[in-house]
Amino acid sequence: KPVILSGIQPSGQLALGNYVGALKNWVELQHQYDCVFLVVDLHALTVKQVPAELRNRCLSFAAQYIACGIDPEASTIVLQSHVPQHAELAWVLGTMTYMGELSRMTQFKDKSARHEDNINSGLFTYPVLMAADILIYQANLVPVGADQKQHLELARDVAQRFNQRYSETFVTPEIFVPKVGARIMALQEPTKKMSKSDPNPENYIAVLDTPDVIRRKFKRAVTDSETEIRYDVEKKPGVSNLLTIHAALSNQPVEVVEASFAGKGYGDLKSEVADVVVATLEPFQKRYAEVMADKAGLEQILARGSEKARSRAWKTLSKVYKKIGLVPAA
Ligand code: ATP
Ligand code: MG
Repeated sequence: KPVILSGIQPSGQLALGNYVGALKNWVELQHQYDCVFLVVDLHALTVKQVPAELRNRCLSFAAQYIACGIDPEASTIVLQSHVPQHAELAWVLGTMTYMGELSRMTQFKDKSARHEDNINSGLFTYPVLMAADILIYQANLVPVGADQKQHLELARDVAQRFNQRYSETFVTPEIFVPKVGARIMALQEPTKKMSKSDPNPENYIAVLDTPDVIRRKFKRAVTDSETEIRYDVEKKPGVSNLLTIHAALSNQPVEVVEASFAGKGYGDLKSEVADVVVATLEPFQKRYAEVMADKAGLEQILARGSEKARSRAWKTLSKVYKKIGLVPAA
């Protein structure tokens, strides 16, 4: 089976953008592929974290993967820090990634503008660790949101650079971006993407938000001063975002959803989108409570995942060390 690798940072609260852009597609693809799904805790360190909260969030995110439909029997669920080879390969790849390439990354520019007091070198080299995450499992496909496209292109370039310099070693990964919902926008600022670590929680729907909170957030979502429900990202970003969320979760083309609102008002749109989101998330929340109630079971899943992942990762890393001229440890 071809290999899929993807991950989410345990920062903030797992949000609807992450579900639509990433998790939903993981669930849909998981049985056709050999999948490794990471909770990328080392990446989360690039912004300030409270240790006790981070620790809880790592387990909570893994539980939310399962609650949203990842089958831990079929897929490997791993905490990134449990597989030390990610960071080791990142070091090697960092020696083959140019400052100029990393300087062009828009996520670094966005995040360093938002965290001016903490523009650390980890934030800068983030895409190198991400390349290592992907390449160490020889992933063929990486299902992510549109915001990660630039990082994935860099991972492909680095893989090819290594292969050319030392002979064929890494698979060059393909990106998978969903047709609908590759970029879900913030509810209060629909020209910027929804992010789970947004300081304003009104901007995102958390997977674990209660139905009341979800309905309230949609009711307050920013639209525009017109009344017509029409999909037009340039002129009507707020309305278009609501139509996209509906379409992604009801598995319909945006045009079909748009047509179903002919003659209706923004109030109808908001309440129907809220209904679709609540209907999607409520069963996840029930399952989440069950998964979290069995901490030992969850820890066992993660232990199994990291054991499997470590041996796969070491296979690639030892090959890399040999090719670049390091002496194998006796
Ligand atoms: P943070 O603000 O902490 O960076 P984030 O919401 O951007 O949070 P990430 O952990 O960076 O989440 O990304 C996890 C996955 O979710 C990636 O595949 C990313 O492309 C996807 N994703 C993030 N935001 C969106 C969005 N608004 N729409 C679609 N996909 C998204
Ligand atoms: Mg992000």
